[in-house]
Amino acid sequence: MSRLVVKVGTSSVTDSSGGVDEDVLRHIAQDVAERRRGGDQIVLVTSGAITAGWAEVGEGRDRPQDSRLLQAVSAVGQPRLMDAWRRAFGAQGVAVGQVLLSPLDFADRAQYLHARETLSALDELGVVAIVNENDAVADEEIRFGDNDRLAALVANIVKADTLVLLTDTPGLLTGDPRRSPDVTLIEEVSEVDDDLRALAGSSSSGVGSGGMASKLSAARMATWSGVATVIAPARHSSPVSRAVSGEPGVGTVFHPRRAGLSARRAWIAFAVSSRGRLYINQGALQAIEHHGRSLLRVGVERSAGEFRAGEAVEVRGPEDQLVAKGLVRVDADQLFSGDDVVVHRDDLVLLRAG
Ligand code: GLU
Repeated sequence: MSRLVVKVGTSSVTDSSGGVDEDVLRHIAQDVAERRRGGDQIVLVTSGAITAGWAEVGEGRDRPQDSRLLQAVSAVGQPRLMDAWRRAFGAQGVAVGQVLLSPLDFADRAQYLHARETLSALDELGVVAIVNENDAVADEEIRFGDNDRLAALVANIVKADTLVLLTDTPGLLTGDPRRSPDVTLIEEVSEVDDDLRALAGSSSSGVGSGGMASKLSAARMATWSGVATVIAPARHSSPVSRAVSGEPGVGTVFHPRRAGLSARRAWIAFAVSSRGRLYINQGALQAIEHHGRSLLRVGVERSAGEFRAGEAVEVRGPEDQLVAKGLVRVDADQLFSGDDVVVHRDDLVLLRAG
């Protein structure tokens, strides 16, 4: 039995005219239904609402940039998208449920736990949960690639074994296939480092996909949570089973870190936005990185931002390097007069590899 989160990108869910690509959905639904019968638990994360919505109301015009319009367009496309998924799974005798989440749901821990309960109750009911970002009321600009991040957060809350990112490339490539003919597939990645990120650049297929850069940050987030990640092609029969088969040459596999972060620590590290920064000295750096200590007031040189107690901050070392993220115990203006413990070790997540 495996627990999987499968994310399908816009460029796979929709075809060149922006309509939903029923073939892709059918293959995925068949595969997911069959794996469920074999005992797997699977949550699906789908993109494509905006593209599908614009195909309906855009009258052939170029897709708008204005985020107010995009939000409205997503409201048109989301039911269209769900209708297509419902039919694809209906043909397999499987019911689907729609779960729309926004980053704020993950920032608030109670909401985050609610989302977890809902997803597990849907699974108990034998329903496949289909998740998308709640674009129509998203508080921030709609950014493509957000669903990669969303899928990684979902993989973390459901404690998935594997996150499968289905896309329109064979996986992570050594270069841009449109520019150089001799690019090859990177089959395995053990650590998402700066070199890899530079390689991925901000490649994008143009139609909504967040490109490799956002897939790499999702993979990093997931593997740090102890979730293996695979980037693999969507347009294939049994794309999910193929992606998790471990067959050489199929997709790019990211190995999970053995000591995966707990859900709470992954939530601190990746889900909550930072409200400020703490710049610490060498002694404090040693204490938190090598001795697992809390961050004390004496170790903080200065801060930036108007954070309040309980909010998340970045912790930066003497060379401005990002070393940790944590929840502060004091307001920014109380930093040098309040409690001695600025970030308790239980609320501090070290972000450097090792
Ligand atoms: N939530 C967006 C949509 O359904 C897609 C975001 C993404 O491409 O990651 O259209």
